[in-house]
This record gives sequence, structure tokens and C-alpha cells, in this order.
Amino acid sequence: MDSIVLPNEWLANSQKATREVDQGADIDDFCKVWQDLKPELEKLVGKKCWYCEAIQSRSDKDVEHFRPKKKVCNVKPDHDGYRWLAFNYTNYRYSCGYCNKRRKDSGNNNRLGGKGNYFPLIDENKRAYKPGDEVYERPKLLDPCVEADVKLLDFNDDGTPCSVTSANQIDRDRVEESIKLYHLHHSEIVEERKKLAHIL
Ligand SMILES: [Zn+2]
Repeated sequence: MDSIVLPNEWLANSQKATREVDQGADIDDFCKVWQDLKPELEKLVGKKCWYCEAIQSRSDKDVEHFRPKKKVCNVKPDHDGYRWLAFNYTNYRYSCGYCNKRRKDSGNNNRLGGKGNYFPLIDENKRAYKPGDEVYERPKLLDPCVEADVKLLDFNDDGTPCSVTSANQIDRDRVEESIKLYHLHHSEIVEERKKLAHIL
């Protein structure tokens, strides 16, 4: 993410959007701000999803908010989302619809997967409800922008995802949660990995 090139005026536009949303405007009215960064995010690693690493050149990718911008599911007290990070590019991840959205897997008894508005933490007591407090959070989900996180994920010869054998229990739990919420066990991608494993 350090090597992203921000287009001219982008920072000014994001600051303007942040101000307007602070004053009550709807975040989605400024979706162009994050959409404008899609070509630059794409340049960083090409047309592959940062979560599942699948290249689906004909399907659209989304600029996903790692910390959900409008609502966080399964959290007490209720959380209106990390609104203050809606226009902060360090919160953006380039993602396919399978990882980003809640979907049923018809090839697997309609098992539900996908991130949606979920953002579980290792310690819920550290949940940020105001700007700046997010630095104290330890996300349960693996972050594709953190190298140590990426190294926790491995794959079996049958294409199913798993954690590396050296992972401790906390990291195993993180991998397990990430597999569910990024839908890394979706039947189609498991099949594609299996094919790749046999070629290699
Ligand atoms: Zn994906």
C-alpha cells in the first residue's frame, strides 16, 4: 500500500468527503472517492483479489473497506461502522465479490460465506468506536496488507485452505475465521486450487 500513487486532487476530494460525512451526509453519496482509486489499487498486484488471490479477469472487483464503513455486524454495543475511515485509502482492499459480499455456495449445500459487514477482533474489549482507537484493535481477519498474516495461510493438495502447521492456536482461529468470512472454501475456488496443485 505504501507504493500506491494517489491521483491529483484525490486527497483533497477525500478530505472534502470526510468533512461532509462528519456533517451528516451519506457516505455512499461520495462512493466515487474510493472508486477513483480502483485503477491504482489494481496496478499494485494486477487483476487479482487480495483476499483469495483469484484472477477473474472478466468479473468486476470492488474497492473493499477492510474496516466496514457503515455498520459492523455481531458487535455489542451496536456499531455504526468505521465512518472516519471511509475515505482513508489505507483502509481499502482490492476484492472480488465472493470475498467481499455474503453469498451462498450452491456447490456446497448453500453454505454462506463472504465478509459483508463483519469485522471480528481477537479482543472485543478493544473495539474502536471513535477515530484513532482502531490502532489498539487486533483484527481476527487476516489482512492481505500484513505480510505476517499472509504467511499464516496454506493450502492442501485437495484445494482446501488451512493454516500453516507452525501457527499457534490464536493464529489458527484467525485463519479459520478468515476462511469463512473471505469464503476461501468456496467450492469453485477450491476446485481451481486443486487443478493448480496437480499441475505444480
Ligand atoms: Zn476474492
